[in-house]
Amino acid sequence: MGARRVTTNGWLFWLARHAQLGLILLDEAIQEGVEEGMLRAFVLSSRNAADFDRADFKSQLSSAVSDQEFVQLVSAYNDFKVSNGIPLKAPPEVAHSNFLRQRGLPVCGVRKKPLGKFHRVTHCWSCKNPLNNEVDIECVECGWIICRCGACGCAR
Ligand SMILES: [Zn+2]
Ligand SMILES: [Zn+2]
Repeated sequence: MGARRVTTNGWLFWLARHAQLGLILLDEAIQEGVEEGMLRAFVLSSRNAADFDRADFKSQLSSAVSDQEFVQLVSAYNDFKVSNGIPLKAPPEVAHSNFLRQRGLPVCGVRKKPLGKFHRVTHCWSCKNPLNNEVDIECVECGWIICRCGACGCAR
């Protein structure tokens, strides 16, 4: 399948150009209730999502998506999410697993700060967001606090 994989707001999306439909976006977080052998895709021209035959759909995709089209597609998809009440930002545990997958790293779990561990306030090395281990979860692999963007120490 020809598609461009990107992480935005902690979600993992695949962007592609469909031979008939034009620019499309695939989001595994909206595949709930989709029938076997089908997939749900957001189609830019209709500004809506619809279900398609998986094999046929994937055979028509190419990864020819420019940076400008990328911005257009993701912003239209975010508008679609807002109007359908779907959260724009992924929960930190989802963002963390997508962050690791995007970098080809093994996906490890998350936990609350273990009892007895010192209180830590710092900022994210990737996006500079402030972090606090009293409220944020940490990665079981590296022990770093996980940011809303999904970053932990595994990718340093
Ligand atoms: Zn971050
Ligand atoms: Zn980690």
